[in-house]
Amino acid sequence: MLYDLIIVGGGIAGLTAAIYARRGGLNTLLLEGGAPGGQIIASPELENYPALPKVSGVAFVQRLLEQTAALELEIKYETVSKLHLTEEIKEVETASGAKYQARTIIWAAGLVARRLDCPGEEQFLGRGVSFCAACDGMLYKGKDVAVIGGGNTALEEALFLSKICLHVHLVHRRDSFRAEAALVQKIKQRPNIVLHMPAQVSRFEGNKRLEQLVLQTPDGREVLPTAAVFQAIGKLPSNQILSDNLALDASGYVIAGEDCCTALPGVYVAGDCRTKPLRQLITAAADGAVAASRAIAYLH
Ligand SMILES: Cc1cc2nc3c(=O)[nH]c(=O)nc-3n(C[C@H](O)[C@H](O)[C@H](O)COP(=O)(O)OP(=O)(O)OC[C@H]3O[C@@H](n4cnc5c(N)ncnc54)[C@H](O)[C@@H]3O)c2cc1C
Repeated sequence: MLYDLIIVGGGIAGLTAAIYARRGGLNTLLLEGGAPGGQIIASPELENYPALPKVSGVAFVQRLLEQTAALELEIKYETVSKLHLTEEIKEVETASGAKYQARTIIWAAGLVARRLDCPGEEQFLGRGVSFCAACDGMLYKGKDVAVIGGGNTALEEALFLSKICLHVHLVHRRDSFRAEAALVQKIKQRPNIVLHMPAQVSRFEGNKRLEQLVLQTPDGREVLPTAAVFQAIGKLPSNQILSDNLALDASGYVIAGEDCCTALPGVYVAGDCRTKPLRQLITAAADGAVAASRAIAYLH
């Protein structure tokens, strides 16, 4: 079957593109490799989306999915592994070997969590090593946990966990935070948050599950017992498979302007995965709308 549009990624950018595309009459397939909704699922509460002053990431995504379901959007849960974008008919291949064709493509693959890449990290993934306090925090209720990072996300994760866990050890490699002053203030006032800074994680250790972190501090090696570690050290774009087809900047973002157009006719990029000054829900949603409207115009 030849689709009018294939959208890769079911985060806010991809789902918004789907709303505009379906309302524009496009026969649309959305391919999502993980859980629908993207990164925002990890947010316990968001406060800056216009007209929705206090809503959890999960509730936000639920409303969005209800909206797309009403438009009879076709979604397949498959990870895209190869793209052929240079011809008039574009082809998308997924990890299961399935192939789909369309006249236009919107790439909306967002960002993934950056890893520390130190010994033990891979071994304890899902067994103590997590990237999402809202998803996994309750598993460690009443226990000691650690958070790694010094930006807004790390501090928000630590505050969230401090309401569930016995102690939250906040490990940061510098001696000051990058996060907003208001968040830093809240962290300092929370009695069960313990700061370890400057300190760097050098190993993850345990048997079947994570049991401790080995930290490197100016005073030497320190062992920090912990049931879990929540890493919040930044995000990376998931654009590697595009690099044969499209220009990426030095950090791996697809180079595209506010019109979301790429150098290839019929290929658009939307959301956090493109070069832009602000990566937020509202800018991702705006990109989704713009990219879909460009695809509609191209097809007409
Ligand atoms: C903890 C946290 C809190 C946040 N809080 C806020 C906030 O309060 N306000 C705000 O405005 N923003 C917030 N953000 C940022 C916001 O979540 C992002 O800007 C937004 O989610 C970007 O949407 P996106 O659709 O571009 O990408 P993403 O949300 O990253 O979605 C991309 C989707 O593409 C899928 N995908 C990737 N590669 C493939 C592939 N090869 N095949 C198929 N599918 C693929 C992924 O599984 C994912 O579902 C927060 C982010 C985090 C992590």
